[in-house]
Amino acid sequence: MSIQSNLNTIKESLPEHVTLVAVSKTKPVSDLLQAYEAGQRIFGENKIQEMTEKWEEMPKDIQWHMIGHVQSNKVKFMAPYVSLIHGVDSLKLLQEINKQALKHNRTIDCLLQIYIAEEESKFGLDENELNELLTSVQFKELKNIRILGLMGMATFTKNQNQIKKEFTRLKFIFDSIKELKTENCNLSTISMGMSGDYQLAIECGSTMIRIGSSIFGGR
Ligand SMILES: *Cc1c(COP(=O)(O)O)cnc(C)c1O
Repeated sequence: MSIQSNLNTIKESLPEHVTLVAVSKTKPVSDLLQAYEAGQRIFGENKIQEMTEKWEEMPKDIQWHMIGHVQSNKVKFMAPYVSLIHGVDSLKLLQEINKQALKHNRTIDCLLQIYIAEEESKFGLDENELNELLTSVQFKELKNIRILGLMGMATFTKNQNQIKKEFTRLKFIFDSIKELKTENCNLSTISMGMSGDYQLAIECGSTMIRIGSSIFGGR
């Protein structure tokens, strides 16, 4: 199957309120261009250096999403252009994103990553940490970032019940904070679902799916 037909098949099955992020990590620019020519404008990468190289080469009307774990010292490389950072998991990182955004006189949209999986993972806030962050004085001072919602990754398992439980939990946490409206917080997005579980994620309330291998093939 071609990249174009993979993309079209997925897009045809998506409800209108769900945004597709084409996850192009490890894939060559020639593959990304095929997706671009098929109309795709949102691409997701998990390494800042690789994303920046692709941003330099690719057409400028693309929205680049950083979906991987972000180290503070690398934020500056994507600050001029990144469209949405999915994996923000600390106030310290938000402060650095804010600082770099300010340097470029822009606002950078972010999602807060929530830890929902049962397996050992280093990344993501729990519910208490999320509430603490959103209500902190330091957070309110950040004028050059905007929180658009939450992101989560389910446990890597074939057990659909467990995945459903974790997605449902992310939706529950989202619903518990979605009324919160501050100048730097406008909650509309739940980024959950990948190639193997995006249909389930949409059933559970996802509004943004991150699909790699089902579009570009295995890595
Ligand atoms: C790689 C990756 C994806 C895409 O995974 P596929 O199974 O190839 O669709 C989605 N989200 C994150 C955070 C990733 O790192």
